[in-house]
Amino acid sequence: MTGPTTHASAAILSIGDELVLGQTLDTNSKRLSAMLAERGIMTRRHVTVDDDQTMIAAELVLCAMRFDLVIVTGGLGPTADDLTRHALAESLGEKLLTDEASLARVRSWFEAGGREMPRANAVQAMRPVSAAMLDNDLGTAPGLRAVLHGADVFCLPGPPREMLPMVERFVLPALRPAGVVVTRVLRTAGLGESTIAERLGGLMDRARSPLVGTTASQGVVSCRIRCEGADADECRAMIAADAERVHEIVGPYVFGEGDQTLEGSVVSELAARKQRVTTVESCTGGLIAAAITGVPGSSDVFDRSLVTYANGAKEELAGVDPWVFDKMGAVSRECVEQMADRGRERAGADFGLAVSGIAGPDGGTDAKPVGTVWIALASRAGVDARRFQLKGGRDNVRQRSVTCALAMLWLAMHGHRDLPVLGEVGGA
Ligand code: AMP
Ligand code: MG
Repeated sequence: MTGPTTHASAAILSIGDELVLGQTLDTNSKRLSAMLAERGIMTRRHVTVDDDQTMIAAELVLCAMRFDLVIVTGGLGPTADDLTRHALAESLGEKLLTDEASLARVRSWFEAGGREMPRANAVQAMRPVSAAMLDNDLGTAPGLRAVLHGADVFCLPGPPREMLPMVERFVLPALRPAGVVVTRVLRTAGLGESTIAERLGGLMDRARSPLVGTTASQGVVSCRIRCEGADADECRAMIAADAERVHEIVGPYVFGEGDQTLEGSVVSELAARKQRVTTVESCTGGLIAAAITGVPGSSDVFDRSLVTYANGAKEELAGVDPWVFDKMGAVSRECVEQMADRGRERAGADFGLAVSGIAGPDGGTDAKPVGTVWIALASRAGVDARRFQLKGGRDNVRQRSVTCALAMLWLAMHGHRDLPVLGEVGGA
């Protein structure tokens, strides 16, 4: 049995009713893809299939015909719904036979626990004629290795704690990368994904290399730059050139790289400047303070914040003038300006961030619909208040408010108080 000379691309098949039913999250594919990419092999497909032999066999054949490496996890247990080995035999057009060495191992696994092997477990020692068994030291299910339509196929047990050691032991040493895959991720906050895509233009052309793509989550848009090639240094240089172009185009909004968070970058920047921030929060109920204090070392840049939910609290703790509530309302420019400015002064901080808005589902009016949020940033130089119209339900409005507030602070610290933040609308 000879496999491919190189593994230019891979597919990962996850097997199990519990996965397609949404009861278990498929973390195996994520782990495996990351491990392969690190070693220069691009995963081109993730497939999740229920416990159905015909379906598993069909997907196995499809993946084996298209890719050089196929890793299957799950379906190797002893019960009637564990059908991966049968599906592999079916796709190979082979019979299953009992592997005596494996049978002895499964038996001794039970004997070590003082039990006799249940009859059902004998099936775990079976393999398609041309396949090899892969020992599993942490469970009863051995893995399988075979060559199908010229592709290397590895079948591994589903539980991550059994699967991962077997990847280390059997899969990684067998990998034959055709080249390298290098990825760099630039993280932005404050710009919409489509705006970024529009600005990047041809840089996002799917035919070019490096490949530039974006993903958005809670107001943070990541630009992924990926290069596949023969030489890692060459790839890194090409990626650096693209990263520079991304910086030129959306530069002020880039707050970090890799898995850096916006709050993490804000805290680092404040620490570098030896400055402190305080927050006065209404509809976010302390979420900005929670984000900041979630960063290790935040005590250097943060010593207090106020959650002023009721008007009385805004007046008593932050020093908002009572006329503001009568004339303008709590969700207004004047209110957040005073919250940010007076809160900052009282805390003796360099920056004061204040938020007051209508997170919903109730409380909206024609003039101030749900999602109306005022955010102010105060510093010794003055106060900048902006009105936002944020989409989504209560959770989303609150979470987005945090991102907008931190993005305003990030931009201000870099001399870009003039730049708009996503969700911002004009008007009073
Ligand atoms: P198996 O008996 O080999 O089908 O795997 C059984 C258990 O492994 C499941 O109950 C899950 O808890 C876990 N499992 C299977 N597949 C995955 C996967 N793709 N990601 C994470 N856990 C998994
Ligand atoms: Mg299963």
